[in-house]
Amino acid sequence: MNGKRKIVSGFLSFMLLASTICVAAEKKSGWKEIKKKHFIIYYVNDREFAQRVGSKAEGYYTKIGKDLGFTRRDNFWLWDNRAKIYIYSSRESFIKASGAPVWAAGKANPKQRLIATYQGSKRFIDSVLPHEMTHLIFMEFIGFKKSIPLWLNEGVAQWEDFSRRDDILSFVKVIFTKGRLIPLAQLVNLDVRKVDDAGIALVFYAQSVSVVDFMITKYGADRFRKFCGQLRDEKSVDEALQFTYPKEVSTIETLEKSWHGYLKDGR
Ligand SMILES: [Zn+2]
Repeated sequence: MNGKRKIVSGFLSFMLLASTICVAAEKKSGWKEIKKKHFIIYYVNDREFAQRVGSKAEGYYTKIGKDLGFTRRDNFWLWDNRAKIYIYSSRESFIKASGAPVWAAGKANPKQRLIATYQGSKRFIDSVLPHEMTHLIFMEFIGFKKSIPLWLNEGVAQWEDFSRRDDILSFVKVIFTKGRLIPLAQLVNLDVRKVDDAGIALVFYAQSVSVVDFMITKYGADRFRKFCGQLRDEKSVDEALQFTYPKEVSTIETLEKSWHGYLKDGR
């Protein structure tokens, strides 16, 4: 099953990308730059690709903020605080400089607000860039000292990757009908990085995207932001649900029930 294998390898790449990696923090000679409103793009020789990355990144920035209900107050990627995107001249030089595995299309360092890739990578522009930007924006909103529940961090980041979203949501509907979903009470506490079974890891990631999709689509971005704000303020998932959705889904159990209904009937 090619589709499934594609999704698995995609997820595994994201698992790796989620870890914090230092990439070319210091400015080296030979880098040219393009300054955008929220980004500085460093490149070696392919200006056209760098421009494309810059304009896509600006578009994603606006869209992610809007989708998640994050306002301008939440993020200031302006002037000296702009995010930096380094585009290496080749896959080899990117891998050598970043220590990335050979299949990776990008790496990110959230604390440095830095993302790296190599020129010509279409997968980076369509998939890795929105995913990693979402991690950066989301982690800044929650704060680096807090541990963000993994399902939420990855669910949100992957939900913003449109190139895969529909495939993943369809996949979840299939495993729902087969009764193979992980109970939500387990999902919210699962550290998938310690899970050896790739099948369970795959279900974990896909399911996280689906729950995020349900919460945002059904109840809107503003309340989703409020829910995330509760977790930022160190409330448990149940407390955050109770505070944000008191009438609709005030516990993990009721969230699970409503989400199953959504998987079944689409509403
Ligand atoms: Zn990720």
